Amino acid sequence: MHASDFKKLSNTELDQTLKQAVRKERQLLSEILLHMVEVDRRKLFLTLAYPNLFDYLTKHIGYSAGSAQRRIDAARLSKEESPKVTHQQNESVRLEVTLTKAQWGKLNQMRELLSSSLPSGSWDEVLEYVSDKVITQKSPKTKITVDAPNNHSNEKDSIQTQHTKETDMRRARKPLVRSVRHQILKRDQCCQYQDQKTGKVCGTKWHLHADHIQPVWAEGSNDAKNLRILCASHNLEIYRSQAGISRRI
Ligand SMILES: [Zn+2]
Repeated sequence: MHASDFKKLSNTELDQTLKQAVRKERQLLSEILLHMVEVDRRKLFLTLAYPNLFDYLTKHIGYSAGSAQRRIDAARLSKEESPKVTHQQNESVRLEVTLTKAQWGKLNQMRELLSSSLPSGSWDEVLEYVSDKVITQKSPKTKITVDAPNNHSNEKDSIQTQHTKETDMRRARKPLVRSVRHQILKRDQCCQYQDQKTGKVCGTKWHLHADHIQPVWAEGSNDAKNLRILCASHNLEIYRSQAGISRRI
């Protein structure tokens, strides 16, 4: 229907066609949500070099932050996430956290101790102040972990059977020299995961890990040339594909 056609409609017709359109809208929305659930199940956003579903929906699909968040909420994909993070229109973030009585007590104690530095005592300022302290203390000695997360060490063990256990143990124990880690982090600065089809690089600066391009268990060295920075999600994704572990069957 063209815009001019609507003027010709009787009141009853206008009311009915609107109802029909809304019904279609609902159907389409539930279809979109089903797509999103499947994208999330397959972690397709990781393959396409996005660190999370939200980035995929905003930067790739083209939703605004608010629309993306509402759809994620509607599909209940963020239900199990704790704390709840809501991305708002002006790029600010709303964070909902549930605290125990003891934790709440500690936070208030901290705020009191900071009252001379932060007279307003607003929680956003308190959190920013503490974050700045931690960032200054921990950077640039940023703690970056190496390769697969620990909780998957058993799975990793099972694929090492071709190698002698002793050699593996010795190699696995050899830690990455801190200076090499800094070198890699300085060189890469963000997640280097790339979608081979589009060439898109993930580029997130959150939760960075140093990753061996050729895995240690496959004779990969600790040489800078064999190392790259990956975000936690892509580190796990690459590890899964290298180890031949299929996702959530
Ligand atoms: Zn990444």
